[in-house]
Amino acid sequence: MPRYDFRCRSCGSTFEVSRPMSASDDPAACPEGHDDTVKLLSTVSMTGGAAAPRAGGGGGGCCGGGCCAS
Ligand SMILES: [Zn+2]
Repeated sequence: MPRYDFRCRSCGSTFEVSRPMSASDDPAACPEGHDDTVKLLSTVSMTGGAAAPRAGGGGGGCCGGGCCAS
């Protein structure tokens, strides 16, 4: 279940709420009970996501030479 960051405009604290995506836009009360909160843009579990581009080509000569094409 994704977590969403909220910030309370009443007391200035930030807090996380776990909720289904379908409820992502629902209001959330801060832990102090304030209703005046805003949802922050959060990076949802993008840790270590840098997809390394694969160095193309195996370096083998087989498919370059046509032996696989028959
Ligand atoms: Zn608050």
